[in-house]
Amino acid sequence: MESLSIWAAFIAHDLSQFVTIVGLIYVIVNVIMAAWLKNRKIQPAGVTYKQVRRELSYSFLTVVIFSSMGWLVHYGFFRPFMLLYTDIHTYSFGIPGFGWFYVGLSLIATIVVHDAYFYWMHRLMHHRLLYRHVHRLHHRSITPAPTTAYAFAPGEALLHAAFLPLILLIVPLHPVAIGLFTMVMIARNTLAHTGIEVFPAGFVTGVYRWNTTVTHHDLHHLHGAGNYGFYFTWWDRMMRTERKDYESSFRKITEAGTNQYDASRVAGS
Ligand SMILES: [Zn+2]
Ligand SMILES: [Zn+2]
Repeated sequence: MESLSIWAAFIAHDLSQFVTIVGLIYVIVNVIMAAWLKNRKIQPAGVTYKQVRRELSYSFLTVVIFSSMGWLVHYGFFRPFMLLYTDIHTYSFGIPGFGWFYVGLSLIATIVVHDAYFYWMHRLMHHRLLYRHVHRLHHRSITPAPTTAYAFAPGEALLHAAFLPLILLIVPLHPVAIGLFTMVMIARNTLAHTGIEVFPAGFVTGVYRWNTTVTHHDLHHLHGAGNYGFYFTWWDRMMRTERKDYESSFRKITEAGTNQYDASRVAGS
């Protein structure tokens, strides 16, 4: 009985976290920064209430699946293979304060591994054997909105949720690192689906080039192929899956006085 109430608490926590982050990003992008971003809408098409309603229903299911996985991890369901630890001094190696420094290092490692996991899982989900039942639902949203972030069919949500027990096989993680990772993941995911380019002009040059912009994932939704990465562009660049129209589209959207992606310019790409 106690375990069931903890499960409910996991769902309540994850749901409020999801709603808070998506809501905050929506307000920042669409209200606080509205004047600065007024020419930055990527696709001319708007988002219908029907789409948002569908996305919110599936998002709730995703939250239940993600929090159930968190609950199973909390109860040690995958022990003894998992490297979850709760004593902050476990990885301090006798150096005062290093335990918290390790939390930061493990968070960076988790993000880098998650980026690789997401890229390859995403490409796998685009295979015709998986696409229809696993990934097509996410692609019903051709014009993404912040509510598209968690709009997954249950099969896709499970594949994403599996990352937590899998990363715990290779990277020792403290619950604080898991909590921070979850927040970064939701924020980055929501940002990718805002439909408005928030990154400054020039984010396709130099070191900024490795960051995936909003346009990067927006083009994936618009065309249904290419740009499979999550946080970084390096997998797409290495595997030559980055869309040819990515840089020019980003430049056009971020140039002063111009706006919106013109699909007709790249017809057939
Ligand atoms: Zn996709
Ligand atoms: Zn998406």
